[in-house]
Amino acid sequence: MNTDKQLEIIKSYLETNNIFYRDNYHMKYETYFKMGGHVKFFITPQSDDKFKQIVIFLQSNHIKYKIIGFTSNIILFDEIEYSVIISTKNLTLLEINENVIQVEVGYSLQDFVRVVAILNNSEGYEGLEGIPASIGGAIFMNAYAYGCAISNHLISVECIDKDNKVIILEKGDCHFGHRNSIFRRSGNYVILKAKFELKNGDKDLIARNIEKFHIARHLYQDFVYPNLGSMIAATDDAYRSIFSGNLFYTAIYWILKYAFKNPFSKFLMRKRPSNLVFNKLLLKYLKKKKISSLRYTLSRKSANILINDGSVSTKEIVDYIFLIRDLIGNKFHLENELVIYPAYKINPEFETTLNTIRDRLNKETK
Ligand SMILES: Cc1cc2nc3c(=O)[nH]c(=O)nc-3n(C[C@H](O)[C@H](O)[C@H](O)COP(=O)(O)OP(=O)(O)OC[C@H]3O[C@@H](n4cnc5c(N)ncnc54)[C@H](O)[C@@H]3O)c2cc1C
Repeated sequence: MNTDKQLEIIKSYLETNNIFYRDNYHMKYETYFKMGGHVKFFITPQSDDKFKQIVIFLQSNHIKYKIIGFTSNIILFDEIEYSVIISTKNLTLLEINENVIQVEVGYSLQDFVRVVAILNNSEGYEGLEGIPASIGGAIFMNAYAYGCAISNHLISVECIDKDNKVIILEKGDCHFGHRNSIFRRSGNYVILKAKFELKNGDKDLIARNIEKFHIARHLYQDFVYPNLGSMIAATDDAYRSIFSGNLFYTAIYWILKYAFKNPFSKFLMRKRPSNLVFNKLLLKYLKKKKISSLRYTLSRKSANILINDGSVSTKEIVDYIFLIRDLIGNKFHLENELVIYPAYKINPEFETTLNTIRDRLNKETK
């Protein structure tokens, strides 16, 4: 935990160097999932230089901090008072030079796709259009959808390493994998900006692809409740993975699949697509397994999408994440990140849940 003395040092540094921040800021309505306690310092550097300056200052003084982009993959907890969070939301410069586009980390991925694909006819970015990410968060996670990974046309990334050096990593140095990168694996870099290649494509085809992917996303993505996309990075259908160990439920799953997911029923349900029948089957399955205490409301789009409907406790949300995690199995990794540091104060009633999270996250990384 950061100490009061460290917090005083930070405040004085922010003031002296005129770096934008707010103190005792409530994160709940700032985050995508609409959860999160207060933070002592919510720092929003107004330029790339100020961003570098504060990161280097904190790292040199061994002060813990958390960087956030659009928070569309992270869960902050109401019961934790965080100490230092740096948001990249003010870092939005974008420059185009011939066929290279350089962009700062706080730029919206959805806007970026419109700029590269629609305004500059560049192909290979269309699948990323509906991901509510910042460029920094998307590079960290190697965001991927419909055959497009953000790393596909990436040239290089400028970042700060653990030794406070500003370095450029070429694409090959970033070790991108499926929804993974050196940034995510090591946690040793702060991403500042990136360069991407513009690859000339067919304007009409690009526009048609964006429309196609947008409609497809509408079919399976919850857009009513605050949520964080897929909780587990499952490439298979989550329900199939859940029922795979049980012959009876697998058989019912396939019957329902043919009945409700054939082209005709999909067409009939195209305005209100849902997976409610599979949710019902899942609830029966849980009852059979004597897991009947679930008070959590499932997303009508998928049991693999964590939603916040405002009525459940943090404990119930955490229990649900690990329940689905256990049911899907270890074949795929937990995609959503549970942020439990850097804490300043923790509600004592949250300690048991926090210990569960710590234990489970330790197992995840083994
Ligand atoms: C409705 C919905 C649909 C989604 N669909 C997809 C999808 O199709 N494909 C997909 O891949 N993901 C998807 N996601 C998940 C999410 O959008 C991505 O993981 C995205 O990359 C997160 O970006 P972010 O800016 O919100 O990062 P955050 O959630 O803010 O942060 C994620 C991680 O990145 C780190 N980070 C952020 N910026 C930096 C930086 N500058 N330097 C170092 N570390 C940094 C943070 O510390 C954190 O660990 C979806 C999410 C939602 C809510």
